[in-house]
Amino acid sequence: MDETPQRIFCRCCIVGGGPAGMMLGFLLAHAGVDTIVFEKHADFLRDFRGDTIHPSTLEAMHDLGLLEDFLKLPHQKLRQGEVKIGDVTIPFVDFSHLPVHAKFVALMPQWDFLDFLAERAKRSPCFRLLMSAEADGLIEEEGSVAGVTAKTKDGRLTIRADLTIGADGRHSLVRREAGFVPLDIGAPMDVLWFRLSRRTTDADDFLGRVDAGQILVVFNRANIGSAPM
Ligand SMILES: Cc1cc2nc3c(=O)[nH]c(=O)nc-3n(C[C@H](O)[C@H](O)[C@H](O)COP(=O)(O)OP(=O)(O)OC[C@H]3O[C@@H](n4cnc5c(N)ncnc54)[C@H](O)[C@@H]3O)c2cc1C
Repeated sequence: MDETPQRIFCRCCIVGGGPAGMMLGFLLAHAGVDTIVFEKHADFLRDFRGDTIHPSTLEAMHDLGLLEDFLKLPHQKLRQGEVKIGDVTIPFVDFSHLPVHAKFVALMPQWDFLDFLAERAKRSPCFRLLMSAEADGLIEEEGSVAGVTAKTKDGRLTIRADLTIGADGRHSLVRREAGFVPLDIGAPMDVLWFRLSRRTTDADDFLGRVDAGQILVVFNRANIGSAPM
């Protein structure tokens, strides 16, 4: 196999195709900036992520002219919800008063959200998305970051860019290699994330319960979206 790395040049290289990387890639490409996003997985299908797309995100989608088409994707709407604290059930959230166009949380798998963003971003000639491409080092020249190296299923890749952005999540390689040290503010609680079946009598807008030292949050996550649950 030819070990010579394939070379790519671009103005902006974004490592990581999560919500941050894909949205930034979309914005830069639509502003005419030659942008590459690369993502180490072959697809966006990762079930450990949540499903709630909040009114503020939906408003950003509206501002970008994407909301109408986005809401054609299968989703549920959470307009209000109740929580039980001790023995008392109280209204907990009500989005109807928000000064936004979509006064609800859209429940939709994150991979559908990312697939949608990717499809819209690709309509710009300035956008390239490389899947199954994992950054494994930074290129440094004269004290500056000048791009990244990556491995793909087709071999090694060198991407030279005027601006390199790390959007590669909480264990960011870009951050580590660039010498940034995150501030550890601690985690005040542990979260256990799991799936339960529903009864037909379960309330649609029940969000959970709170007791001394314990919180249970429930999302009514129907079998919607493009992937099997
Ligand atoms: C269990 C759980 C539930 C959640 N629920 C919700 C929710 O309901 N609503 C909500 O808004 N948020 C939710 N969140 C938070 C949300 O998932 C994160 O805020 C969001 O994913 C962060 O986006 P990001 O793009 O910064 O990072 P990430 O989503 O972590 O994306 C980083 C991407 O970079 C890729 N990557 C990593 N290293 C490399 C590399 N070396 N080369 C190339 N690619 C790389 C990863 O594969 C990944 O796709 C939840 C999180 C968890 C863990």
